[in-house]
Amino acid sequence: MRQRRRFSWACACLLSLGQGCGGTQPTASQSAICAALSSNQTLLSANATVQCGGQDGRWSDYAAPQPGAVVTVGAEDDIATLVRLANALEVPFLLQSGANGWADTFALDTRGLVLDVSQLKDVAFNEARSQVAFQAGVLIEDLVAAAWQNNARVATGTCNCVSVLGAGLGGGLGRGAGLYGLGLDQLLAVHYVDAEGRQRTVTNASDADLWWAIKGAGPNFGLVTSVVYQSYAVAQADNTAWTGLLYFNDSAIEDIVGAIDRLALEPEMQLDFYFTQGLVAVLPFYLGDEATGRAKFASVLDIGPELDATAVTSYDAWNAAGDAFCAKGGRKPSYEANLQTLDPTAWRQVWDAYSLFYETYAEANLTTLLTECYSTAKMQEIGSAESAYPWRDIKCYSIVIPWYTSEALDAAANAFGQEVRSILSASSGTDAFSAYINFAHGDETLAEVYGDSLSRLQTLKKTYDPNGRLNQWFPLS
Ligand SMILES: Cc1cc2nc3c(=O)[nH]c(=O)nc-3n(C[C@H](O)[C@H](O)[C@H](O)COP(=O)(O)OP(=O)(O)OC[C@H]3O[C@@H](n4cnc5c(N)ncnc54)[C@H](O)[C@@H]3O)c2cc1C
Repeated sequence: MRQRRRFSWACACLLSLGQGCGGTQPTASQSAICAALSSNQTLLSANATVQCGGQDGRWSDYAAPQPGAVVTVGAEDDIATLVRLANALEVPFLLQSGANGWADTFALDTRGLVLDVSQLKDVAFNEARSQVAFQAGVLIEDLVAAAWQNNARVATGTCNCVSVLGAGLGGGLGRGAGLYGLGLDQLLAVHYVDAEGRQRTVTNASDADLWWAIKGAGPNFGLVTSVVYQSYAVAQADNTAWTGLLYFNDSAIEDIVGAIDRLALEPEMQLDFYFTQGLVAVLPFYLGDEATGRAKFASVLDIGPELDATAVTSYDAWNAAGDAFCAKGGRKPSYEANLQTLDPTAWRQVWDAYSLFYETYAEANLTTLLTECYSTAKMQEIGSAESAYPWRDIKCYSIVIPWYTSEALDAAANAFGQEVRSILSASSGTDAFSAYINFAHGDETLAEVYGDSLSRLQTLKKTYDPNGRLNQWFPLS
């Protein structure tokens, strides 16, 4: 039997009214959702907490949703309860997990409700370690740590702070992509709350259409509460890779970009490169021993890094190089382009634009260009019939992240981001500009984000969410 008790009302509830933290209840001037929750305090599970008013703590404050209430749910059942309540009150709602989504498509205003699932952290491997069941609040760092402890490996994204499902319902690009495919390719069963607040389970066998749609456009079709996911048994002693940062002088940009463009990435290989803090860095990854890794990436190493910080690294530390990008707060209106080719001349222009922005605005000194490149063979072998994810043949994804604090810099930052994106897309080697939903800005057309899957997705949206209740993340209706 589920325990029920009163919620704890956060101070922010009253602070948002300018009343300080002396009281314990919201007042009549609160949003309808807060008022409803305050008048029915046994609605949710024991560990649920309610905060009235806006929120902090997202990865980017730029275009961040500012709801009337944030409920940190204590159990999966709470999600269904809250969706039914929000629907009854005609209040928009948004599930929030890792709080990293940066797109400006959130349409949640101060009437709205955020369902924060960050307390839902259960993870359980089966005995064979071929499957893992986990809840919506599980971050990549949580799942990797659990897999490591269980002598297993899972295909997740590469940044610790991102929720496995936030990334995985749109794609889920990570170091396992070459061997195992995308995060969404790992899904075996999805438990979710539908637009009407009903708890459901979907698998390929139960509903092939919804199964296809949820894998690529998940947030448009349900609030996923927990899943069963593939896992791969690997003993800790064998679960290592050669990886680490290589730092170069910026005079080497054309050589680096040319070498990466020509590099045929094998399934065990992955590579990121960065312009960050005025530096050029490359992060090779090879799932195997150092000597073979160095041989596979010889064309990059031969350019001559000024510093080589690579080493054989255990699975539980593979994502450490990305931790700096996980820092929450600040304004980061980011833009991305999918790339098939990398053009050295274009990348020199990008460096010049980056240097100008970085040097002109002192407060923007964390501004970063991040490019991730993958072996696509496994993703293409799985194929588009299996999911709505449309970009299985894309080699590299380039993201420009202007990073600063003052709103006054928004116009310059957006102009810089758009300039870089247009240089990259003009030299992308793709037939038309496209962007990965989880890296896109929000100003793209739906076709640029959903590709050839768009029309089928829009048809399915009419069946599964006819009233457009799940319309916060690149809405299909
Ligand atoms: C520092 C950083 C590193 C990143 N690294 C990677 C990477 O390695 N690979 C990659 O593929 N992407 C990566 N991304 C992009 C990331 O996948 C997206 O930002 C993703 O949307 C974040 O999900 P979240 O749950 O962390 O954020 P949130 O803001 O909580 O969620 C983003 C959107 O997804 C929806 N959502 C999240 N969970 C669920 C759920 N359980 N059910 C339904 N909808 C849900 C939310 O409602 C929201 O609309 C990175 C982003 C950042 C900021």
